[in-house]
Amino acid sequence: MEIIIMDFYISWSRSDPIFSNYFVNCKVLISPSNTLRSFNLGKWTNQPDKVIIDSSAFYYMFGRSAPPPKEIFKEQVRIIKGHKCLVTLCPFDYPISPGSGNTLNTFSAIEKTLGNAYEFLELYEKEELYNNPQIDSMGVIQGTDKSSIQFCVNELQRMGFKKFGLGSLAALYSPEEILRRVSFAADVAGVDRLHVFGISRLDVISQLKQLNIESIDSTRPTKAAIYNAIFYSNPFRTYGIKGSRNADKYSRILSIPLPCQCPTCKENPEMLLVTEGKKAINARAVHNYYHLVEHLL
Ligand SMILES: [Zn+2]
Repeated sequence: MEIIIMDFYISWSRSDPIFSNYFVNCKVLISPSNTLRSFNLGKWTNQPDKVIIDSSAFYYMFGRSAPPPKEIFKEQVRIIKGHKCLVTLCPFDYPISPGSGNTLNTFSAIEKTLGNAYEFLELYEKEELYNNPQIDSMGVIQGTDKSSIQFCVNELQRMGFKKFGLGSLAALYSPEEILRRVSFAADVAGVDRLHVFGISRLDVISQLKQLNIESIDSTRPTKAAIYNAIFYSNPFRTYGIKGSRNADKYSRILSIPLPCQCPTCKENPEMLLVTEGKKAINARAVHNYYHLVEHLL
């Protein structure tokens, strides 16, 4: 049987480590709202293997006023300047917040998402991005149940999208609901063409790997580092840091670093246990990323 490895994209913000400086095969998701306006991929000496540029839709989900889709597209084009790796751009979508998932709101969000997807393809063509084999596009799926998700995928397919990303999951807390929506989308789009946006739960990440989903993105290694959590793989487990203020949240506590081959531990394993300062958080994020990716291999 063919072994399928799910691509893991680390969701990146401007104060996070540049993961591609440490890992040659890393994949990164960048939201325009998480970058400085002067940022572009050409500024990274070591570029990731692949990059997805989403539309920051999640950032605008909670009442911030969003710029017109055209402006978001311009931001995306600004970010990919100087890229040497495969980059995938996504149209600006309308996520459905868990509290407002009635039929009317759902269909209004899907209609707006599809309208933007259509406009995105026009901009994409105008910019002549089709001509570059290192640039790709991904349609964003919205929906809350089988019929709305499948309708959205079908419409995106009719527009010509070949790759799809399922949205609106980042604010959902029920793993069963997340997996249900993923399977509806996978049925129509195909698991090998489906990206799942914004998954933070480790158990859900593991289950998506079992489903052979093409790729996911998450901020989890970095978020865990901020909350003084340390990952190890084989078997995968999480430790709190002895003496840290939130150590009581974890069932396992670490007082000395375990053997590890990650870039942080090769240089200075004691950095893992430092609870103050961005430098230590970033060192821990690199270590956590290494172990989550090891776990997903
Ligand atoms: Zn390490």
